[in-house]
Formats: sequence, C-alpha cells, structure tokens
Amino acid sequence: MSDLTKLTIAEARDALRKGDTTSVELTEACLTAIEGADALGAFVHKTPEIAMDRAQAADERIKAGDAPAMCGIPVGIKDLFCTEGVASQAASKILEGFKPQYESTVSGQLKDAGAVMLGKLNMDEFAMGSSNETSVYGNAVNPWRAEGSAEALTPGGSSGGSASAVAADLCLAATGTDTGGSIRQPAAFTGIVGLKPTYGRCSRWGIVAFASSLDQAGPMTKTVRDAAIMGQAMMGHDPKDSTSADRAVPDFEAMLTGDIRGKVIGIPTEYRMDGMPAEIEALWEKGAEMLQDAGAELRQISLPHTKYALPAYYVIAPAEASSNLARYDGVRFGYRAKLDQGDGITEMYEKTRAEGFGAEVKRRVMVGTYVLSAGFYDAYYNRARKVRALIKRDFDMVFAEGVDAILTPATPSAAFELGQSFDDPVQMYLNDVFTVTVNLAGLPGISVPAGLDAKGLPLGLQLIGRPWEEGDLLNTAYALENAAGFVAKPGKWW
Ligand code: GLN
Repeated sequence: MSDLTKLTIAEARDALRKGDTTSVELTEACLTAIEGADALGAFVHKTPEIAMDRAQAADERIKAGDAPAMCGIPVGIKDLFCTEGVASQAASKILEGFKPQYESTVSGQLKDAGAVMLGKLNMDEFAMGSSNETSVYGNAVNPWRAEGSAEALTPGGSSGGSASAVAADLCLAATGTDTGGSIRQPAAFTGIVGLKPTYGRCSRWGIVAFASSLDQAGPMTKTVRDAAIMGQAMMGHDPKDSTSADRAVPDFEAMLTGDIRGKVIGIPTEYRMDGMPAEIEALWEKGAEMLQDAGAELRQISLPHTKYALPAYYVIAPAEASSNLARYDGVRFGYRAKLDQGDGITEMYEKTRAEGFGAEVKRRVMVGTYVLSAGFYDAYYNRARKVRALIKRDFDMVFAEGVDAILTPATPSAAFELGQSFDDPVQMYLNDVFTVTVNLAGLPGISVPAGLDAKGLPLGLQLIGRPWEEGDLLNTAYALENAAGFVAKPGKWW
C-alpha cells in the first residue's frame, strides 16, 4: 500500500484486519516521515524502539484475531502525559530529565489497546499558551502556509505538536489536552478534528496538572470517525482520579449515522464578536445552513454570561496552576539549579523555580497566587467561581429548552504568524474566546475543519454538546464534516 501515513485510523484498522498492511509497515512509514520533518518541531522525544516493539506485538495480536480498533495504529503522545521510562517534560525545563516510573491512565489505555507510541509531542510549557511558543523545545510549526507566503505560522497551542504532527501525516492521530481550548484551537488552525470530552470522561491520572477542574484529555485526528474510535479508547472510569466519572462509554463509531433530522442546533448571539473577520462569520453561517440542510432545526439562543468567560478563566486557571506547580521544588522532579556555597533550602527553591519555569508560567503562578491571597480571594477567585456557575447555568438552560448542540466558530482567526502575539498576553488569551466557556461548564466540544480562508488556511467550526453525550455530538460533527467536505491538505515544504 502506498501513502501509509496518510491513512485514517479507520482505514488503517480495516487494512490491518484484512492483511493489506502490517503495523510494522505503518510504523516504519511514520518513523520515516518523522525523520524528515524536524523543521516542524512536532516530535520532541522520539521513541522508535518502543514503536517497533509495539508494532510487532500488535501484528501478533491482529493475526490472532484479538485486535481492538486502535491495535497497531501509530500515534503521537503529547509531552504532558507521563509515559513510563520515557521523558515526560510538559515542555518545561523544570522537568528536564524526568522519566516517570508509571504510565498515565489514558496513554496506558491506548497502549493496552495496542496503539503504537511513536514519541512525545511538542506543546506550550505546562499547556499554558495558544501558539506553542512557550515550549522549552522551541515552537512547533504549522505545516500549512498562506498562499504565496513562506512565513512560518503557529500550529496553535497548547497541543501544537500534536496538531502539526497529525496535519502533516507524521502519525495517524495524537493525544491532546484541553484546559481552555488547547485541543480545539490547534485542530482548527491545522485542518484536523479535535474533541474535548465532558469533564470527567478521561482520567487525569498521570497527566501533568495545569488547572485540575478544567483539564481534559482528548483525541486529535484526521476525521470525526477517528475521533470516535480513539476517543472511546481514551475514555472510561478510573478509580485513581476522583473526578473520573463512573459511566459506561458507548460505541461512538456505531452512533455515526449522519442522521441529524429533528436535532435542534443553537446559534448563540453572544459569540458574534466585534472585529471578527467576515470570513469567520460567513463560515459560521454556512455551517449553520449545512446543518439545516441536513434536517436540523436552527434556533437563536442567548448565553448571556459569555463575555465574562475569558476573565473568569484567566483567574481560575492560574489560581489552580499556582497551586499545582508548587510541587516543582528542585527535590522531587527533574531540574535543580546549581547552588552556591551557603545556599539553603529557600535559595534552592528560588533558584530552581526562577531558572526552571519560563516567563508565561511565572506570569500564571504570580497571577494565581495573587488572586488566591488573603486580601483578594473574594474579589477575584470567589467572584470568578460565581461567574463560572452562571456560565454553566446559561448552558443548562438552553439544553433544558431542547437544544441538542451549539454551533460557534472554533477560533476568532486562522493560524497567525509565529512571533506575532508572543509579547502580548492579552492578545494571545483572546484566542480562547470561543473555547473557554466549554471548559468552565465541563461540556464536550469538538472542532471540525469546515473551510479555507482567502489565504488558503484552514478554519474550524466548534460544536458544543450536552454533558456525557459525546456520541450525539460526534454524530452532529460527522454530519457537518460530510456536508463541509473539507479535503484540503497542506503542501509539503518541510
Ligand atoms: N490557551 C489557554 C491557556 O493558555 C488554554 C490552554 C489549554 O487549553 N491548555 O491557558
């Protein structure tokens, strides 16, 4: 078979089962593609030996007829996931040299299902960022370029390496994590599908924590069908994570009928933003029409607290991060600064943290400790928590009135040039304007590639679903994907 790296998970699974290819062949093809793609900065720790061992084991399993859907499928794993014996650095200097003795539940479930890990993927440091530029490894690069331009674009963040690797066909799919948009925004910037499940669907155990009440892992794939297949393999109850939900995970792929007749799709007024590019507005309208043509009913809805979502998120997420990151003390994990004669434990903490954390992480820790400090706790943190409850209530109310899914743009722009917003945190934070509400409310959300802008860059639409109804959400996304017919691929320059 030719072009093995271009296969979807579903195609590869079927080809493996028919004996048209082997996992070893697929894995070798991906490893070759990865070797030629260093310019993308996507894979930051390559694990070819592990990959070949797992591919051989997968081929045995497939031959024996005992092969789950993910068996033999080569995937990349975001550097935020702890992987046994393999560097897991969350793209931070402070975790330099850290090789966990355990496997995160999600990557472990993929491993048990027979998936083949090719290596670890680039990301923003501790998943804080929207452009993959805060990474200690240097930024990942978007395989897409604007027509007639050789300017390097961001793949988005924080799961930028995952997005770049999947869009460039270095792997069939990748894991991502999403605290405020880090699966959906990079998926939209690179023309792929990104699913953030309901909070509690995927275990957070063994995933380096950013903001524990918001973090969720999810699949980043070439198609909605693949998101269904891989998502199902990643989800499930885990007693090691107290927020993991004890709920059955349905067969999502079997739910992809493409039939959305009678479904009610909400179009939220508050997501129509001043200064939003006309192309995004037009795509959003086109997406709504496509769903209507497929038999859904459109309904204008109001989510009145949307405008407070970004400020609330940028209080809550840093607050939780400042607490989670207190564990990096130079003793338990990774990096420790060189100490001078006479330095004590305080100097060790201070120097290690000053040298080990990058500027954005330090900004979050400072904002977080500030909003949690005695004099400001009520004014900022408690206020943000109340806003969060109101945002969730907005969604609860529209779902209670019969809305099945909500359609919005995924991002306020297409991929932007690397360096463009790096010195402007507020501009950078605006990337998350359509996605953070979903994390604050704990809902499932998916980004589906739906068109190209005038410069030939991909744009995504977001669908937001009812809690625990990823199956229904995926089916609506499938209908949108079918109608949009997005098949464009980046031209190879790397
Ligand atoms: N860009 C957002 C942030 O910087 C979201 C990141 C994420 O989802 N991990 O916090």
